[in-house]
Amino acid sequence: MSLRPDNRLLDAPMQPVTCDTCQGQVEVRKSSWEQTSIQWHDDAVERCVERRAASPRPGPNGATFQGCEALRRTVATLAVGGDLDVQSEESDA
Ligand SMILES: [Zn+2]
Repeated sequence: MSLRPDNRLLDAPMQPVTCDTCQGQVEVRKSSWEQTSIQWHDDAVERCVERRAASPRPGPNGATFQGCEALRRTVATLAVGGDLDVQSEESDA
């Protein structure tokens, strides 16, 4: 793995998720059901049409884009299925 560590994001491990539609791989961390952090790899940005459309030139805070429709759906499916850790998961879920 050639992940560049960002110390501000290291309170929980990022988990690799591949977009169903673009086949781009990103790193995802769900700190809660509502909060999703996504770290984009360069090749994933290239593959994802919606990502390119949202931010043609990634700015200093390019992390605000939460993913294309397919990626959000993929993340939600993984989280619900227990394949993606949710840090503050409610026990009565
Ligand atoms: Zn995508």
